[in-house]
Amino acid sequence: MVNNVVTPPKPSNEPILGYAPGSPERAAVLAEYERQSKIVVEVPCIINGEEIFTGNVVEQVMPHDHKHVIARVHLAGEKEIKAAIDASLDAHEMWSSMAWDSRAAIFLKLAEMIAGPRRAEINAATMMNQSKTAHQAEIDAACELIDFLNFNVYYARGIYEDQQPPISPKGVWNTVEVRPLEGFVFAVTPFNFTAIGGNLPTAPAIMGNTAVWKPSRNSYLSNYLLMKMMEDAGLPPGVINFIPAKASQAGDICMSHKMLAGVHFTGSTGVFRNMWKTVGDNIANYLNYPRIVGETGGKDFIIAHPEADAQAVKIAMIRGSFEYQGQKCSASSRAYIPQSMWDEIKDDYAAEVSKIKVGDVKDLSNFLGAVIDKKSFDNIKGYIDRAAAEPGCSFVTGGTYDESVGYFVQPTTILCEDPNWESMVEEIFGPVLSVYVFPDNEWKQTLELVDKTSEYALTGAIFARDRRDIEYASKKLKYAAGNFYINDKPTGSIVGQQPFGGARGSGTNDKAGSAANLTRWISARSIKENFTPPHDWTYSFLD
Ligand code: NAD
Repeated sequence: MVNNVVTPPKPSNEPILGYAPGSPERAAVLAEYERQSKIVVEVPCIINGEEIFTGNVVEQVMPHDHKHVIARVHLAGEKEIKAAIDASLDAHEMWSSMAWDSRAAIFLKLAEMIAGPRRAEINAATMMNQSKTAHQAEIDAACELIDFLNFNVYYARGIYEDQQPPISPKGVWNTVEVRPLEGFVFAVTPFNFTAIGGNLPTAPAIMGNTAVWKPSRNSYLSNYLLMKMMEDAGLPPGVINFIPAKASQAGDICMSHKMLAGVHFTGSTGVFRNMWKTVGDNIANYLNYPRIVGETGGKDFIIAHPEADAQAVKIAMIRGSFEYQGQKCSASSRAYIPQSMWDEIKDDYAAEVSKIKVGDVKDLSNFLGAVIDKKSFDNIKGYIDRAAAEPGCSFVTGGTYDESVGYFVQPTTILCEDPNWESMVEEIFGPVLSVYVFPDNEWKQTLELVDKTSEYALTGAIFARDRRDIEYASKKLKYAAGNFYINDKPTGSIVGQQPFGGARGSGTNDKAGSAANLTRWISARSIKENFTPPHDWTYSFLD
């Protein structure tokens, strides 16, 4: 498969720029934000390299300024969705037979473009479209995306090269061919990370697959600009086909197609379960059994031991729960704090959170922007309002919201007497942290509670000092999180350092940005060649 290729050294993570006052990156991203905010982009479908303006248009707005339209998006209908599938199937032979190094070079070039000349463009679009601060856009649309591309190419090269050659007895030559899947991959992406938008179609493509990419209705602009960058990096027509579309229509058409080879999904648990059901309903109609990879929701926890570093716990609660408005799948949204520690940190915690500024992301003094849309705002508001009406709940911080200009929710901390109150159990996906205070002598029982409270198992953090407590908690919570943190917040995983994904209701745990994920997009062919085939059917045991 790979000829004369030397594996390069492992790539290093893209350095995160600081955006300090006076820095060139700050000036660049703000200038780009200003430029982009003055235009309304017509976003087409991109099928077989052609831009298709269907005329069935929806508007995309800034979540923090919802009267400000940033894009008019031309939705794909049945005709375009089917055309996108056809285009990906037509491109399959060309793409899968292209020299591996040529394929890889496209994605390495894309990473270089984003690291350099296109960095401000994709970051500014992510700020506008998904209401990320400059810092949050930088760690997502620039750094994580660059890391996904560079590391996936590195891991892919390893998969091709590291095939353990099978044993070949005398007269026989055995080999294993690493093939892409037969058919197309349906990549369905969430709003909250531009990097995931990029990763889900490109990871299968790096392994020689072609894809239909259905972006989220809340990140059309940033995802479209990324698609254009892929083309500028040299991606041939038809390899990735970009179809903004009504989700259920795209889902029904793609997932009932005979040539569906795989689903690469990130989003909520309910949507993923429905998609899996659809695949199940169609299972007899497919040419192959589709690979199903899905990273889904979370109800991520922090639990502190009474002897833990209280200051570190306090900071983890703030950063882990509220950055990007709590809209990271990894965001902590339930915390279990021992009574003595709570008494110590409560006032200081509330005072610190009250310093957090919420507002327009182009004002870099804001720590939080808006939540993504009206539907999400109303959902979060519902949790806050129900907690306000519940005698067993009280607000330590926040509890207020305002949608007059943008969908703003103040960082909210709910103290819950009942550890099974809805906000301790369900994914809210907003800046809402629920806290349960437990008696100091109930550390072990509380670990049990953490494990059993929610259906999810994405991320979680324990804070403790004594190694025996750390070891005990690690064992007790073995299946409670796919990404487990000791004395650190449960967000901020880095490609190549902490491969990301959860189990239980949180996904198939195929670890985005790792070799494990890439192996889902290949299907091996074992080949035996016999140099001396037998010319006689009888065996020696016969008389
Ligand atoms: P979502 O489930 O609403 O949407 C995700 C994608 O699925 C979108 O593109 C949407 O249009 C599409 N979709 C919806 N119904 C569909 C259908 N019937 N057929 C085909 N596609 C369909 O999620 P979201 O609001 O965009 O993102 C937030 C969710 O994603 C949260 O639950 C969060 O925890 C999760 N998430 C998980 C991870 C992870 O790695 N585990 C990472 C990011 C986000």
